[in-house]
Amino acid sequence: MIMLKNQFLFLIIFLYFGIFRETIILAEEISSSAAEHSGREIRKHWSTEIPLDESAIKQSGIRRLESKHLILYTDLAGSKQVDELPKLFDQLIPFLCNYFELNPQNYETFKVEGFLINDFEKFKSSGAVRQVPNLRNGYALRCRIWVRNPDSEYYRRHLLLHEGVHAFMGYAFGFWGPPWYREGTAELLGTHRLENESLTLGYFPKSRYELSGWGRIDLVRGDLTKNHLRTIKEVFELESEDYDENRAYGWSWAFAVFCENHPRYRTAFRQIAWKLNGVPADIAKRFLALLIKKVQNEQPEWNPQEIIDHLDNDWLDFITNLDYDYDFERTRIDYNKNALPISLPETQFQIRADKGWQSSGVRLERGKTYCFTASGRFQLAEKPKIWYSEPNGVTLRYYRGTPIGTLLATLIPDQEEYFLAKEGTSGIGFAIPQKIGLGKIWTADISGELFFRVNDFPSELSDNIGDVTVKITLP
Ligand SMILES: [Zn+2]
Repeated sequence: MIMLKNQFLFLIIFLYFGIFRETIILAEEISSSAAEHSGREIRKHWSTEIPLDESAIKQSGIRRLESKHLILYTDLAGSKQVDELPKLFDQLIPFLCNYFELNPQNYETFKVEGFLINDFEKFKSSGAVRQVPNLRNGYALRCRIWVRNPDSEYYRRHLLLHEGVHAFMGYAFGFWGPPWYREGTAELLGTHRLENESLTLGYFPKSRYELSGWGRIDLVRGDLTKNHLRTIKEVFELESEDYDENRAYGWSWAFAVFCENHPRYRTAFRQIAWKLNGVPADIAKRFLALLIKKVQNEQPEWNPQEIIDHLDNDWLDFITNLDYDYDFERTRIDYNKNALPISLPETQFQIRADKGWQSSGVRLERGKTYCFTASGRFQLAEKPKIWYSEPNGVTLRYYRGTPIGTLLATLIPDQEEYFLAKEGTSGIGFAIPQKIGLGKIWTADISGELFFRVNDFPSELSDNIGDVTVKITLP
C-alpha cells in the first residue's frame, strides 16, 4: 500500500512505479469455447463428492429446499426470505452465461449444493461441513457452497450469490484466477438489488442504506481517509490471507466495478475469465495485453505504455472519488493524443459543468508561466431550488475540502516527465488538482496534458447545466 498524502512524492511513486513498465506481453488468442473445453477436461478429474447423509441432516433439524440450480440445506426457520433463495439463485446462472458469453444450454444441469448455516454444530454432527476448513462468511468447493447466516437479509443473499459465482466459474472454467479476480468478479456479480422477486445482478448501490451489511464503498473510503490507497498493482498483489478482512473484498470489488463500467476496460476484464490458469502475475499481464490489443484496434495512435498510464490515472480518479451512485458516464476521461503546447498569446476553452475531468487539448510546459482567467455562470443543482455558481464556487457546500463549483485544473505528465516530478511539485494528477477559481498565475513544474473540471460530487453531475470559459494568456 502507499500513503496518499497531500505530498506529491507519493503520487509520483504511484505513477512511475505504477505498474507494469516491463511486463507488457502480446495478447493470446482466447475464446469462451476453448475455456469451456478446458473446464470440461478439468471436471473429468474432479474427485467424487463425499455423499451427504440426508437422514442425519434431517435429524439435525436442517431443512432441504430445492430449485433448478440449487439444493439448499438450512437450519433457518421457514420464511419467505429464506424459502425463496433457491429460486433467486436460479436467476444467477443465465446471467453468468450471458456475462461470460457461454451457451446456457451447457449449464442446464449445473447444480449446486448449498449450506446456509445458523448453528454450525448442527451441520457438524451431520457431517455436512466436513470439507470446510474455516468458515468465516462463505466457502466454495467444486459444486458445494457454505454460507454462515449473517444478520442482514441482503447480505445473506449476497454471500449465497458470491459463493455461487465461485462455484459456477470453477465448474465452467476449472479455474478461479488470482484473489483479486476471483473475489472481484464474485463481489461484482453478487452485488444485487431485489425487486418483485427479480434480481438485478452486478448492481451499483445508490445510497449507503440500500444494501444492508454490504459496506464495500465504506471499507475503501475508510482506507482512503487513513491515507491508504491501493494502486492497481497493489490490488493485483492481494493474497488469499488478505481476505480474512473485508477490506480486501472492498478493493477487489472496486477494481472490478471500475473496469466493468468503463468501455475501455470492460472487455479485457471479462475476457480474462477465459484463461485463468497460471500464477497470479500471468493473469495481470494477460489483462493488460488484452486491454492494449483492444484499445489499439480502436485507437492505434496510443502506445502500450500510454494505455497503461491512462488505466493508472483513470483508477486514481475513480478510487479517490468513489461514492454511492457514482456517475461513471459523466466522469469518464478522454485523453488527447494531439495535445500541443500553447503557442498563441491567448487560448480559450469551454469546460462543461456536468462532466468530470476534460482535456483542454493543450499541454503546459515545465518552467513556463501561464495566466488563467475563468468566467461564466452555470447551474450546480436543481433541487430543492436551482443553485447557480461561478468558477470561484459556492461556499454553501464543499466537496473534498473545496467549494462545489470551483474550477479545478491538473496536469497529467508526459511519460518522460514522471522521472522529473519531485516532492513539492504542484497540480499533478487527478488526485491533486489545482484551484483555478476566477483566475490564477501558474508556473508549470512539469510538462503535461492540461485538464479542467468543475468541483462537484461524482453522484451529482447530472443536474449541472452550463459552461465555464477559461482563457490562458502567456505573459
Ligand atoms: Zn469469495
